[in-house]
Amino acid sequence: MTEFLRIENLVKSFGATTVVKSVNLSFNAGEFVTLLGPSGCGKTTILRMVAGFERPTSGSITVEGRDITDLAPNQRQIGMVFQAYALFPNMNVGDNIGFGLKIAGKSRDEIKSRTEEMLKLIGLPGYEKRYPYEMSGGQQQRVALARAIAPRPRMLLLDEPLSALDAKIRVSLREEIRAIQRELGITTLFVTHDQEEALSISDRVVVMNAGNVEQVGEPFEIYNKPATRFVAQFVGTLNTIEATVASTADNTVSIDGQIVKLSALPAGASNGNPIALTLRPEVMTVGTRPDADITLNGTVEEAHFLGSVIRLSISLGRTVLNIDTFNDQRTAPPARGDHVKISIASKDLLILGA
Ligand code: ATP
Repeated sequence: MTEFLRIENLVKSFGATTVVKSVNLSFNAGEFVTLLGPSGCGKTTILRMVAGFERPTSGSITVEGRDITDLAPNQRQIGMVFQAYALFPNMNVGDNIGFGLKIAGKSRDEIKSRTEEMLKLIGLPGYEKRYPYEMSGGQQQRVALARAIAPRPRMLLLDEPLSALDAKIRVSLREEIRAIQRELGITTLFVTHDQEEALSISDRVVVMNAGNVEQVGEPFEIYNKPATRFVAQFVGTLNTIEATVASTADNTVSIDGQIVKLSALPAGASNGNPIALTLRPEVMTVGTRPDADITLNGTVEEAHFLGSVIRLSISLGRTVLNIDTFNDQRTAPPARGDHVKISIASKDLLILGA
């Protein structure tokens, strides 16, 4: 894999506040990488520094080994799509898509053929004469994408391009964006605070928190092997069980009065110490399971039938666990008030860092 973009020791402060704190990242050519994190964590600021709209306080940005930190935005050959539909309202679709090409001094014929090619690519052939106000939000964002890629940029930057759209369109459009990106093989940096979006379309995800990178990895790795407690909690649903060490002699803990044996306790644990156990909703089974070495008794508080998945809230007393099970058309799901057994394999408990 060839490195395309490199960000080194990148810092951005606004006045006394540092919003990006020495970030180091490397992106491969053709890769689709998502910056994921809560509002205000600095994702957009990083994107804007890569685009050249914001000047780093310190650090450097290089593209294929060339330092572009001080280059003007229009020298960077970058295509960008924003959250709000930033189409020119007084220009039709054709003129919007051809805008960058016109600025670059391309001929009329070239602009026309490239615009047609772009409209085909985004599935809107024949829409040249439409105005933005005559189109749905999803169509407008596809045009914004076409406008960004028409001048053949070397890199695509997408800043929450789907967040103003309704849920169904978001899902179909994100898949379209990914398919187009793959077809063009263009290195893409995508910003979102939506973890499902990030996990579903990215080659790699960068999880950020308060100006720092918490973890960089493929979606499978980020979800299943979170490096920090923040990543585990921000990405996906996580159950946290507040237990107490019952006996260090046999590795037992008490969970709301139920004694459970773990494979190991954290180093330095003593009897009576509080200990937090965390696990994903899908690693627990209602009923028994041969590989499970932990069994808990609980009462169903809520049962949400979502179709293929049933999401249960099960109370152990103080602790409430969220468990996802698959629908089984031959068996009625547990109902509110049912007493149930929960099976867990102790190897599925997540042990988190700081
Ligand atoms: P969101 O998802 O809400 O856009 P984000 O992670 O993209 O969040 P940024 O837009 O990068 O966050 O902003 C990071 C922090 O920097 C925020 O606290 C924001 O208020 C601050 N900030 C951004 N731009 C400026 C500016 N021009 N002047 C002062 N503060 C700014």
